[in-house]
Amino acid sequence: MNIVAIDGPAASGKGTLARKVADKIGFAYLDTGALYRFVAHTVMQRFGDPSDKNDAIEAAEFCRDFFDPSLLDNPDLRLDEAGQAASKVAVVPKVRTALLDLQRNFAVNPGAGFKGAILDGRDIGTVICPDAPVKLFVTASDEVRAERRTKELQSKGISVTKAAVLKDMRERDARDAARDTAPMKPADDAITIDSSDLTPAEMLDKALDIIKERLSL
Ligand code: C5P
Repeated sequence: MNIVAIDGPAASGKGTLARKVADKIGFAYLDTGALYRFVAHTVMQRFGDPSDKNDAIEAAEFCRDFFDPSLLDNPDLRLDEAGQAASKVAVVPKVRTALLDLQRNFAVNPGAGFKGAILDGRDIGTVICPDAPVKLFVTASDEVRAERRTKELQSKGISVTKAAVLKDMRERDARDAARDTAPMKPADDAITIDSSDLTPAEMLDKALDIIKERLSL
């Protein structure tokens, strides 16, 4: 079972890292945060309320039944509004259940031509793939993460202040860590990588060293 689980808080750099790792070692990559963003976006598009449990469940089941990976490429899913709304639908246990099989199937059947699967999110190492042979928890200080996210949004022409980004990020992290079902936390056997003082290249080297050792690639 060639599965790499990467978890961590918002803007920790886990997504960028996961994409690069997947590319280097020939694994398929699933951004599970995009699934929750997709559900949240669907709720809002259908004039529902992401904080309303029933609206969230209805949208999650709809997204599951009509799922197509290309739907995750919608740039609107990357907006902070979608991230905040995602963390609201993500507290609902039935929303998480609706998305469970999709994630597990991807992990065990990444598709022809791939040597394995890499998934990133909040509960990959704890709930989705508890038997994954490699589990990383990627983190960074709040300041560093807010700085990164601010620059990323500004580079897309979105006008934001670092203070506002920091406030939103803390709110979202708190919601993700405090929820009863599948809270964000490192699995007991996860290796934590603090990326605060690492360049993207150093992060990649560190992750690849761990993965290659564990998976004997
Ligand atoms: O990773 P990303 O920031 O795109 O995730 C958006 C939100 O989706 C998170 O704040 C979290 O609430 C939710 N999420 C989750 N479980 C995952 C991935 C994301 O609850 N595996």
